[in-house]
Amino acid sequence: MSKEPCAADSNTPPAFGCPSCGRPLYDRRRPDCGYCGAEIPEALRLTEAQDAAIEDERLQKGRDMERFTRMLDSCCDHAKGHGL
Ligand SMILES: [Zn+2]
Repeated sequence: MSKEPCAADSNTPPAFGCPSCGRPLYDRRRPDCGYCGAEIPEALRLTEAQDAAIEDERLQKGRDMERFTRMLDSCCDHAKGHGL
């Protein structure tokens, strides 16, 4: 029981890093590394579909949050919440 699980483990490599310099890709839509300029393999890049999906999810979350806030704001007015 001496080993403590550490959530922020610096030994963990970034999920998506440049294959050349190993730095994390800050913009996975770029075709090249922003640090060393190496070409980023397509497997590491975001496809347009993935990018759209992420954006969609983000919007969806924002909408959910907005709806939730509105619900708290006027909890008796939830019948209107179904209109998109
Ligand atoms: Zn690089």
